[in-house]
Amino acid sequence: MKNDSVDAVFMTGPRRPLELRRVPAPRPKPGGAVLETVASEVCGTDVHLHHGRLSGVPYPIIPGHVSVGRVLETNGPLADVEGRAIPLGTLVTFYDVYGTCGNCWHCLVARSPTRCPRRRVYGITAPASDGLLGGWAQRIEILPGVKVVPLPEGLDALDVLGGGCGLPTGFHAIERAGVAMGDTVVVQGSGPVGLNAAIFAQLSGALRVLVVGAPAARLDAARRLGAEDVLDIAAVTRAEDRAGWVRERTGGRGADVVIEASGNPAAFPEGLEMLRDGGRYVVVGQYTDAGDATINPHRHVNRKHATILGCWGYEFSHLHRALAMMARHNGRFRWRELVAREHPLAEAGQALADMEALRTIKTLIRPNPS
Ligand SMILES: [Zn+2]
Ligand SMILES: [Zn+2]
Repeated sequence: MKNDSVDAVFMTGPRRPLELRRVPAPRPKPGGAVLETVASEVCGTDVHLHHGRLSGVPYPIIPGHVSVGRVLETNGPLADVEGRAIPLGTLVTFYDVYGTCGNCWHCLVARSPTRCPRRRVYGITAPASDGLLGGWAQRIEILPGVKVVPLPEGLDALDVLGGGCGLPTGFHAIERAGVAMGDTVVVQGSGPVGLNAAIFAQLSGALRVLVVGAPAARLDAARRLGAEDVLDIAAVTRAEDRAGWVRERTGGRGADVVIEASGNPAAFPEGLEMLRDGGRYVVVGQYTDAGDATINPHRHVNRKHATILGCWGYEFSHLHRALAMMARHNGRFRWRELVAREHPLAEAGQALADMEALRTIKTLIRPNPS
């Protein structure tokens, strides 16, 4: 079923209506492949993209950076990270980054490949002029060097996209925090990144996880996913009361680890108030520049003996290990239940509006009729 043309959603610029266009079907470059898209996620990043809140976005783009598809065509051998051949028809996802050069100061000296200036991300910094490099399309072009991951046994598209980009991001944040057995972990933010951080904190041996967020439906999800207690920021509106809520549950000391996954700059000083002396704080939610926040360097950092860490993007390793953990723990944590709605390509605008209004936790685009 190799049609000559396929449908794709184009985001042509900030706040411009999405356009459904018919484009030539992609053919794989040598070393590359083409997927038939099964589903692609709609996430907060897509909302930011549509508002023009990310710099360096080469509009028009085809949104959808985390996707699942079936291998439709290859041009040369395609193998997984173990070197095993990936046959046609295999259900796969892929690490959504390409272009990292392995040859610049960031790649070679700092060994920080997520800061390589040539790095591009499917659905975000991939111009549509370079091909079908986003999941809101019936086909996805896998460029040479892009790492494809067959879905681990027992997982399907709904599981993987229920995790979405929050899965490896939350995994990375918890790894960065160095959560230890017996820790109390506070997660600020109950979106996909926060919920995945809550899951991986438990899998890392946290004694308990407390989630501070909104709206109520997301906090209910946090409870189902094992949070011992949740605090609704719409009900408790004063930052000092929220920090007090954490201290009441931690012997007056504060949490061992706080993960900021809220996207609100004001969460930063508030999270430091929730942290115990000598604790670790990871900021992963400030993906766009939402403004400044004021802290007290003496009280919040120096005297507190705090460790404060940023967490930008994720590497292939995080995706690979997070998927393996999902396959192992999918009975206990029902990622697929985070998916509330699925839309065809023609309804991508509605899907985006739902995500913006926080009406769902996860929304999927299903570009091909199943
Ligand atoms: Zn580089
Ligand atoms: Zn995303």
